[in-house]
Amino acid sequence: MSGLKYELKQIAQNTGMRLDAQNFRLVGYYRDLLFMIQHDRHNKQYLLHVWAKNDLPEERAQLERYLQDFQAGNPQILSRQYNGNVATLQIQQIKPADEAAAALTQMMDQLAAYLLGHQFRSCCQDCGREDGVNLYLLNSGYYFGCDDCYQHLSEQAKVNQQQVPSNLVAGIVGAVLFSLIGVVLWVLINRLGYIAAISGLVITVCAFKGFEIFGKRLSTAGIVACVLVSLLMCVFSTYASLCWDIYAALQEYFLDVGIMDAVQLAPVMLEDGEILGAYARDLIIGIVLGAVASFGYVRNAYQMHKQGFVSNKVFTGRRSNTSVGEEDQSMNLS
Ligand SMILES: [Zn+2]
Repeated sequence: MSGLKYELKQIAQNTGMRLDAQNFRLVGYYRDLLFMIQHDRHNKQYLLHVWAKNDLPEERAQLERYLQDFQAGNPQILSRQYNGNVATLQIQQIKPADEAAAALTQMMDQLAAYLLGHQFRSCCQDCGREDGVNLYLLNSGYYFGCDDCYQHLSEQAKVNQQQVPSNLVAGIVGAVLFSLIGVVLWVLINRLGYIAAISGLVITVCAFKGFEIFGKRLSTAGIVACVLVSLLMCVFSTYASLCWDIYAALQEYFLDVGIMDAVQLAPVMLEDGEILGAYARDLIIGIVLGAVASFGYVRNAYQMHKQGFVSNKVFTGRRSNTSVGEEDQSMNLS
């Protein structure tokens, strides 16, 4: 029930804005303007964004002065900013939730009244279209734009991206070197008697990081290389663990054994189904964990390849106003 008390949920219920509870983010049109409240629980703050564009420079300058006065009148506001597309207020967390919801809604009302009174609009930040505009989170910040402008942005990003050189060989060297950290961890954890396969995750993450540092840009070939390097390193780790286990066992019975004796004996030991099964199980768990770890990298790299940047659609804007729906509505009214 405590969820019902959450301020963003209350505002969502009162305004029809959409709550993304997982990301503590509230987004949607309110009084014809696109608002977003991002709750930064760690820093006990809200970030209140409102998308507002106006072609007149004097109106934009006046908005900056209005925000200055607005901050002066609301001591909870820590900072303000307007970049020509979106105004952002950094607001101190308010307790209890009821008061927070009321205070934030009041701020939205006041901002909306000013913005609408001065012909500010929430529209595509590049061409000014108001319908079919979506909000994206890019690595460089938010982008509020229509499909055409988003496409254009993507083409440009792809051109820029092509100018960053990618060195496959250097990348593979980086992946191998960095993944050795995970290999060492795997062998050590195995000697301590724990499930070493958790290191499969470390191997994969380190392989991708190593590739990025040495190869500069993660290309499609780079992703394939990283996955292959990670797989091989998991196999190598399992085999190295087996060899060390054999070496340790031999040392209990014979004084004069070297690690090479264990390496030679390892293939023979694997003919024993029970031993093979135990090490194969570790290997499979390691590979599965590695696959989980690499999922985000593969997804991001695919997006970079396809559209030139990594993006997340935060909000799907309104569709065209000239739809049948509006005609229906006006007919109902008459
Ligand atoms: Zn546009």
